[in-house]
Amino acid sequence: MKKTLLVKLKEIVGPKYVSDDLYVRWSYSMDSNIFDVINPTPPLMVVRPGTLEEISRILRLANEARIPVYVRGGGTDGGGSRGEKIRSSILIDITRMNKVLEVDENSQTVTVQAGTTWGKLNKEVEEKGWKLGFKGPYSGYGSTVGGSIAVQSNGYGSPRYGVVAEDMTNLKVVLPNGEILETGSAVNPSAKKFYRYCIGPDLAGIFIGSGGCFGVIAEVTLRLYPRAIDDAFGAYGFKDYESCQKCYYRWLKTREAEHIAWFAKDGLEVNTPELAEEGYVSLLTFVVEDQTHELVEARANLLNQIAKEEGGESLDAEKYAKDDWNYKFELLPRWAAKIGQWQWNCHMIPAGDTLKDLKAIMAFLDQREEELKKHNITHSTVSIAHKNAGHVSTSLYYDQSNPEAVDLVKKLSDKYAEIAITKNGGCNYWLGKIWYPYTIMRNPIYRKLLIKVKKAIDPNNIMNPGGLTLPCNLEEV
Ligand SMILES: Cc1cc2nc3c(=O)[nH]c(=O)nc-3n(C[C@H](O)[C@H](O)[C@H](O)COP(=O)(O)OP(=O)(O)OC[C@H]3O[C@@H](n4cnc5c(N)ncnc54)[C@H](O)[C@@H]3O)c2cc1C
Repeated sequence: MKKTLLVKLKEIVGPKYVSDDLYVRWSYSMDSNIFDVINPTPPLMVVRPGTLEEISRILRLANEARIPVYVRGGGTDGGGSRGEKIRSSILIDITRMNKVLEVDENSQTVTVQAGTTWGKLNKEVEEKGWKLGFKGPYSGYGSTVGGSIAVQSNGYGSPRYGVVAEDMTNLKVVLPNGEILETGSAVNPSAKKFYRYCIGPDLAGIFIGSGGCFGVIAEVTLRLYPRAIDDAFGAYGFKDYESCQKCYYRWLKTREAEHIAWFAKDGLEVNTPELAEEGYVSLLTFVVEDQTHELVEARANLLNQIAKEEGGESLDAEKYAKDDWNYKFELLPRWAAKIGQWQWNCHMIPAGDTLKDLKAIMAFLDQREEELKKHNITHSTVSIAHKNAGHVSTSLYYDQSNPEAVDLVKKLSDKYAEIAITKNGGCNYWLGKIWYPYTIMRNPIYRKLLIKVKKAIDPNNIMNPGGLTLPCNLEEV
């Protein structure tokens, strides 16, 4: 069976792009999260399609053979979205599908193959005089546009433009039976790809946050905005958390900032110790961009005024805000390179409750400080904003070769998710095993409907079986 599959896959994509070599399989055995560190799972074989037609033929083949399929973009998934059947799966690496297909000035959109990284997409649209609203997650040099739709990314640009799906107009998805589905305006063959909601219920929504369970996202269309000609930055230090929360809340409410980040005390101690030594407990930064100098100045003035009213002390914005923005997709990898392997627990919280959540998480960490020190685990809590929501996440940096450190990080991650979701009124946005016990599993009506949708779209359950906690045996439910 395996041999026949390999032969057929080679016929579809060419021998160069299929492998069941052990070293290849093991190099795809982990995404970037603690679950995969603890339990790496090599797929049965890896295939790297180059066209839509090839993806369609691979899925038809897998469906006929009832072989599980796992789709992989950049592999930067932080939550643990691999289902239970990876070891017997065909892993589709989508990263050869990395072309920017069309910048359509008329509809102010860009259509891109799903395996394109955010780094590449930002560069190409900017070269054509445009910019993206949502610009990508912090992992943007590695993560792909399709991966972000599949895990529902928040990130750069979110205070103003929202999560990735809020700037998405159309998707092209290869369904498990090989059919190719267009969503939004493109359902009408004579219409351009420019609008998401128009032809009836929004089917794109099924694939947003789908964790690779319903099909392969092959093309994505996103809105474009005119490239900014000027920018301004702000960085403020706060010596008490309450004033910082007020400023953060008011900055968010204006919707004027392209980006807002709140670095809490533990992050200052690790990344900017000079600020911690001066007694600051928070660093709050903003980025403003716009079409004219006057607009930039007016928006920056408003944010600066709010910061001063709330007691923020002006810091070096070039150093603390501009550098992070200009090298945005390098920020976390730079920290990780400095202080160790990384596990992040990002979630959303109503804007006005950000401090409550942040304090609860930091108090929990304080209680474990001795244990953390013993295993040389450092942490850094940051809140990057999203329109009306705060976003609290603590990065834990640890030594992957120390089993006790790995175990502790796993326990802490579980506990955070529990605190955030069950006590603080938060909500996950990316997916994965970290969140499932507190979200999908807890709502029987949502879960029942999701299983019905899965059965309708993927009756043979080939797409990431067990992902999203959906049952591996659909017959039983
Ligand atoms: C350093 C670092 C920083 C991060 N910062 C952020 C952040 O700021 N915001 C944020 O939201 N996340 C962040 N993440 C998590 C992650 O990078 C993103 O969510 C990212 O969007 C995942 O994209 P990917 O291409 O790496 O997906 P992968 O890890 O390859 O896949 C993730 C999931 O999506 C599925 N999938 C991937 N591609 C497709 C496709 N084409 N069709 C169907 N299913 C698919 C996979 O099967 C899997 O279930 C970060 C991760 C790291 C390591």
